[in-house]
Amino acid sequence: KGTSKAAHRSVDSVCPYCGVGCQLKFQIGRDEAGEEKIVAVEGSPGPANENRLCVKGRFGFDYVKHPHRLTKPLIRKPGAPAKGLNVDPANWQTHFREATWDEALDAAAGGLAKLRGFYGGRSISGLGSAKCSNEEAYLFQKLIRQGFGHNNVDHCTRLCHASSVAALMENVGSGAVTATFNEIENADIAIAIGCNPTENHPVAATYFKQFTKRGGELIVMDPRGQGLKRHATHMLQFRPGTDVAMLNAIMNVIVEEKLYDRNYVEGFTEGFFQLREHLKGFPPEKMAEVCGIDAETLRTVARKFATAKAGMIFWGMGVSQHIHGTDNSRCLISLALLCGQVGRPGTGLHPLRGQNNVQGASDAGLIPMVLPDYQPVKDESVRELFRSIWDGTEIDPTPGLTTVEMIDAIYRGQIRGMYILGENPAMSDPDVDHARDALAKLDHLVVQDIFLTETANFADVILPASAWPEKTGTVTNTNRQVQMGRKALEAPGEAKEDWWITVQLARRLGLNWGYQHPSEVFGEMKMSMNSLKNITWGRLEAEGAVTYPSLTPDDPGQAVVFGDGFPRPGGRAKFTPAKVTPPAEVPDHEYPMILTTGRQLEHWHTGSMTRRASVLDWAEPEAHASLHPKTLRRLGVAPGERVEVRTRRGAISIAARADRAVAEDMVFIPFAYVEAAANILTNPQLDPYGKIPEFKFSACAVAPASDA
Ligand code: SF4
Repeated sequence: KGTSKAAHRSVDSVCPYCGVGCQLKFQIGRDEAGEEKIVAVEGSPGPANENRLCVKGRFGFDYVKHPHRLTKPLIRKPGAPAKGLNVDPANWQTHFREATWDEALDAAAGGLAKLRGFYGGRSISGLGSAKCSNEEAYLFQKLIRQGFGHNNVDHCTRLCHASSVAALMENVGSGAVTATFNEIENADIAIAIGCNPTENHPVAATYFKQFTKRGGELIVMDPRGQGLKRHATHMLQFRPGTDVAMLNAIMNVIVEEKLYDRNYVEGFTEGFFQLREHLKGFPPEKMAEVCGIDAETLRTVARKFATAKAGMIFWGMGVSQHIHGTDNSRCLISLALLCGQVGRPGTGLHPLRGQNNVQGASDAGLIPMVLPDYQPVKDESVRELFRSIWDGTEIDPTPGLTTVEMIDAIYRGQIRGMYILGENPAMSDPDVDHARDALAKLDHLVVQDIFLTETANFADVILPASAWPEKTGTVTNTNRQVQMGRKALEAPGEAKEDWWITVQLARRLGLNWGYQHPSEVFGEMKMSMNSLKNITWGRLEAEGAVTYPSLTPDDPGQAVVFGDGFPRPGGRAKFTPAKVTPPAEVPDHEYPMILTTGRQLEHWHTGSMTRRASVLDWAEPEAHASLHPKTLRRLGVAPGERVEVRTRRGAISIAARADRAVAEDMVFIPFAYVEAAANILTNPQLDPYGKIPEFKFSACAVAPASDA
């Protein structure tokens, strides 16, 4: 089962893809030239996966040896073609020249320092990475805050669960899950809304399926049909963007029929009476017309969830990526609190986190409003703590710019230089042509990555970094499990570990950083991060994983939290009523359909790794737009033929795929393909609280493509 006879050693580590955080074993053998390579990957008995792996974890590893790997630092050539998406990764010499590390680091740091001197520190911003280790995320945010004196630092959490975190922080007092997804084995009922685990969190999905096999009731709520549908006891395929109306109607039933947990509400919450009054405006009969789910089904689901002994709620980006994403999450939190479905085995709130280390990078402070452990930059006592740890550094009390706000700030001339580590905004940002034009306007862009990504096309200096199997560091998965990733291979050529590169830049920017190993960084993180109490580097090396909070030096950690109250004033969680807000743009005569975007099983995010993994690329080599067969017939388009999908931002030509899971007025496009980049089409309007763009809803028009 994946064990290769050619392997001569194996290394325990963690999967580099999704937030499930499967532990695995890299089997190391040799290629024909005698160089070490990964010849197979096996699942290990980690707490999240118990030996299981999905296709990405098991087969998506040969990207590390892809010929496009960056092996030397590169500097943009004088007289190179104008910045744009115009570099061939196999023929980069047209735009860049190779440089020594000293030369490249001097150029990278020198360019940023020059802008800092001329325009001030606020002219620089940073995007760190949820694909790097906790230590690397910590160093990155520290570099921006200490080196440039402000908080303009963010990462891809802004594009996935920022709204969920905003709602959780507001109402529960903590941005992480209240229970691991594995707790579903103790549940009687589970709601999975706006998530597609069989594609995006495949190993978690295996636990969901096991749960239904032993009789658990699974309620799937999603505008798209999906793999979990056939395991669901109820499938609520509601109209896109109507989450708040549907969830408020469900809570209306629970309150009107007095099915809520009165003792729990009285003992552990605040704001019930405001919520109760608010919910009177959402009778199921009326909301059925809005969300497209009949009132009787809404009543049935409400009664089942409220009366179950133990229930969990899982959600994904179908909930969070809306301008009302925070309101969607507020409803889910209220639903769980109303029913007392938090803090006991088999209960809890679980936003399924996306990237392998988006939880850890957020915990480490790679967020513009908060320092490590979500400690607000506005709080003087927090700033005093970091002043004492960071050699007297004054922390700016003003929250910084978020990912999409940084792009707008470039157009205003406010941001002139950026340091981007492992992120790919030239593919991942909404209205991505606008974002690409902004990147081209920067006076100085430093990109640190393993490939010459679409974003690196716009760089002035490119610093070659290490892939995950080429470094040691800790990562934190969606379950709050801090896990040890171990170096399995040497990086190719002159590529270096990300933490080392960030340290070299910091020194050149005048910071007194002496770190020699990630374990020293982890030690410093523990000085300000209560979540890491009782978790040490030594424990992680020995045990592989520890869940936070860990109550004693030998406690493996708490799978379920908040059984005895919440980290909020008075220990009470809060109900925040949510109003219905329509999507930022609704279908009309010119743009009559709804575009929604997302991931697919074989490809990960912008595809920089998975499209260079031979098995995964073989399985899904082409961009496609999924449309209902009836829609294709109406358009006169056969599966495989091309359609043009157009929004107010732009148009793409893309092959059509028939998919009955997609409603007749919808089109779904994965965002991993540069040749038909879905984000050319998406709407950059932001949720006002989480500042997350509305990737899940754009008005669009679909027609046969003129190049068909
Ligand atoms: Fe990797 Fe996620 Fe698949 Fe596990 S479920 S193997 S973490 S991609």
